[in-house]
Amino acid sequence: MDVACEHCGALHWLAEKTSGSSKAHPKFGMCCNHGKVVLPELPEPPQPLKRLLVAADTQAIEFRKHITQYNAALAFTSLGVNDDKAINRTGQSGWVFRILGNLYHLSGALTASTGTAPSYSQLYVYDPALALQQRMHRNNDLREDTMGSLQAMLLQSHPYAAKYQHAYEILTNEEEDIQHAEVHLRVMPGQDRRRYNLPTAEEVAVILPGQGEGGKEGRDIILRNRMPHGAPLYRISDLHPAYATLYYVLLFARGEHGWYPRSQVE
Ligand SMILES: [Zn+2]
Repeated sequence: MDVACEHCGALHWLAEKTSGSSKAHPKFGMCCNHGKVVLPELPEPPQPLKRLLVAADTQAIEFRKHITQYNAALAFTSLGVNDDKAINRTGQSGWVFRILGNLYHLSGALTASTGTAPSYSQLYVYDPALALQQRMHRNNDLREDTMGSLQAMLLQSHPYAAKYQHAYEILTNEEEDIQHAEVHLRVMPGQDRRRYNLPTAEEVAVILPGQGEGGKEGRDIILRNRMPHGAPLYRISDLHPAYATLYYVLLFARGEHGWYPRSQVE
């Protein structure tokens, strides 16, 4: 993959060129449709993430070695996947991620069930000091100073942290007798930003169904405070603009939205 698209710079195999173009001047359709689609740039990562991604000190090197583990510890959603571990058992060769069946992003209740340690989005509605303790308890091979600084960064830079806290406040407000209710996280149509795709407070709405905000949308992210015992985790639609940012928090640390059916490209 070393042939760059003349418009967007995406790297291709030569065999991916459109059939009408020559080997000397290959053209490509699958990346940007001949320059017709211009995706917004990703903004720079906030600090201290930016430093940890490039610095040469021992803390930064340790972070990059374990970056997927730090990401999973700080994600809002979990990865539902049946990965084939056997494939890496024998090898001298590079590590392979092979899955059986589909890959999902999953979400549970905002309060852990009795006797279960909180995880994922539950840790975003938890006291930060206790959340850090819990994250380190599950990942005691990682550095607490790194985990603590990334956790503080995400609480500030990732807008979905505040959205989850807001949803939790609504769901635990006893006066309104909505103990078993659900709220929906929905991105409102027509407010998509071209530059950076950064969600703003108005774009992501926390909706209580049945309060005049319109009916259910199949793609909403549904949040509940508690789930019935043994209930399965809820599968998030990959058509929700926050699908990627809620899992890949260290890749989209400002809550950048991804593609979704109503998004517009230039
Ligand atoms: Zn292109």
